[in-house]
Amino acid sequence: MGHDQAFAELGLPKDASEAEIKGAWRRLASRWHPDRNASAQAVARMQRINQAFEAIQRARQDGDSAAEPAPEPPPPAPAQAQPAHPPIHRKLKLTLEEAAAGCIKALRGSFTPTCHHCQGLGHRVLGSRCRRCRGSGTFVRPTAWFGWPGQPEDCEDCGATGIAREPCAPCEGSGTLAEQRYEVQVRIPPGVRDGDLLHVAARRTPADLEVQVGVAAHPLFTLQDDGDLHCRLPVDGFAWMANRSVPVPTLDGVQPLALQRGRQRYELPGLGFPRHHRGPRGAQVVEIEPVFPEKFSTDQDILLDQLIASCAATEPRLAEWQRTLRARERKRPRG
Ligand SMILES: [Zn+2]
Ligand SMILES: [Zn+2]
Repeated sequence: MGHDQAFAELGLPKDASEAEIKGAWRRLASRWHPDRNASAQAVARMQRINQAFEAIQRARQDGDSAAEPAPEPPPPAPAQAQPAHPPIHRKLKLTLEEAAAGCIKALRGSFTPTCHHCQGLGHRVLGSRCRRCRGSGTFVRPTAWFGWPGQPEDCEDCGATGIAREPCAPCEGSGTLAEQRYEVQVRIPPGVRDGDLLHVAARRTPADLEVQVGVAAHPLFTLQDDGDLHCRLPVDGFAWMANRSVPVPTLDGVQPLALQRGRQRYELPGLGFPRHHRGPRGAQVVEIEPVFPEKFSTDQDILLDQLIASCAATEPRLAEWQRTLRARERKRPRG
């Protein structure tokens, strides 16, 4: 039904307000409803009144939701084209180690399948006219209120369509069948990132699984986009001075790292996170913070004095400098 025709059907001007439209529909519905109007054209007239009202409402909703004139909307996809069951959405939390190496996780849950007898509608459409509303889609409850007609209501028997239906027996009108439990082993490939979606085809489940992976923050490592893992570690300052090795945590367990005096950043290639799914691994980047005692103990002081004294003996430049310094002192004029 066209826009102008719809307004004409309700006897309204085209700029009628929402309240005027509803009022006109109520007035006409209570006059033409087949429950109170036995004339031959009552059913047809009531259907036109409902169509006109819906057409105006639809046009107003479209106008509200689109500021600019929208192109013709595509026709809605037929229900049969949809997959039998929409995928089951699940979330899965992994540690960084699990995400890096890949793992197998068991997912258990329950699933309420859509009734395939009625495509989830809960009813079967019979095609004939609804008996309760006589095809009008609306129904007026009798009231004892001074004989005033009650408000027309949507007919529940036919969902306000005016076409008869019967409840679907296999699902008892609910549109869903008995709940099923499932358990499935999901193989997570190495290198999944936080927020990744994994599609698991249905083999042991009533529908495909859509698994959203969450990767927990790691207490030591920060994952970079390129797969490098960054970490910051305190190391013994004397070990750093002495070029000793210190144990360093990696995704593959603790490994020795040979410190180099003066250097604070180290790269361990191949010990990072996969650069992409199943791809080669990035590097682990270790940033060290050499830690020295705030205050030396007596024992440390004695040892340091010995170290200082020994330094001149092994380093010719220092021995030379100390001789120069003593010679200058001797030449200084006194008095
Ligand atoms: Zn059903
Ligand atoms: Zn009905």
